[in-house]
Amino acid sequence: MITKVEQIEARAAALPLLKKAQIYLNEREQDTIEVVDFGLGTLRSEGAQILTLVQTDRIGVKLIALQPRQTLPEHWHPPVGADPGKEETVRHLFGELFIYTEGEDTLDRGFIPEGKSECYACRHEQSMAAGAQITFAPGEKHWFQAGDRGAVLFSFSTVARDALDQFTDPNVDRITKITGE
Ligand code: ZN
Repeated sequence: MITKVEQIEARAAALPLLKKAQIYLNEREQDTIEVVDFGLGTLRSEGAQILTLVQTDRIGVKLIALQPRQTLPEHWHPPVGADPGKEETVRHLFGELFIYTEGEDTLDRGFIPEGKSECYACRHEQSMAAGAQITFAPGEKHWFQAGDRGAVLFSFSTVARDALDQFTDPNVDRITKITGE
């Protein structure tokens, strides 16, 4: 859960990052950036600012801004009916981004959020420079962490069904609740 004020502040903090990534957003888009705390209540540590640019029955395009060292929790996109699950390509635009997948433990430059060791099984680190991209197969586990300057990335995918995404952390609730304060 986050407050309305936290939502407004997190949106505002995302704007300079997007500017550094040379992304132009119109006012309506700026005001509809989704601030996601994954139900964990520790937005600055585990969270993301996400703007859905395209969402059809077939494809999805999202822009994701992460504050310095903010972590997008480990998740995967499960099969839904005849669909094997979301296939996702991340293209990194600005800042430093560490991406983690299954494989040899090479975790070095990023870190597991404090006390959350069991919620982050993927320890294979890839350091992404601006212009680098990576594709996750349906069902492939992944998580991201921004470096010290924050990060901006595109996520291009087959149809996104965010509410059905699965997270290693059993406490995650993908739909963030906003309180009135
Ligand atoms: Zn994903």
